[in-house]
Amino acid sequence: MKYDIPAPKINIKEFCKKNPRLVRGRKKHQIYASYKIWKKKHNHKWWTWYNGYLKSQAWFEKKEAVHKRAEYTCEICKTATSFQVHHLTYERVGNENMEDLIAVCASCHEELHNRKVAT
Ligand SMILES: [Zn+2]
Ligand SMILES: [Zn+2]
Repeated sequence: MKYDIPAPKINIKEFCKKNPRLVRGRKKHQIYASYKIWKKKHNHKWWTWYNGYLKSQAWFEKKEAVHKRAEYTCEICKTATSFQVHHLTYERVGNENMEDLIAVCASCHEELHNRKVAT
């Protein structure tokens, strides 16, 4: 199952810094249009990388370590068997610390991703 995780955010300022040639001499709306295209490509690249990472040996081993730490029990409801690993933060995605990850069951995982209001 795929969850809606945020690809790294790149704002228009960073875009301009990275792509001076696309910006020079252009009108604001032109810059914005190429920023939108570039962002799409950038996100797509990131997603391709992330999907590959989820299939990698490194992620497999990390996941195993998280499940082991949790004794194969969901760290949210503490009853169901953990089958999935949730990122508490995507800050270090690809190079996560153990504290960035928790073992969860499918229904708690769903719940985590549905809860959008921070309270
Ligand atoms: Zn659970
Ligand atoms: Zn998750």
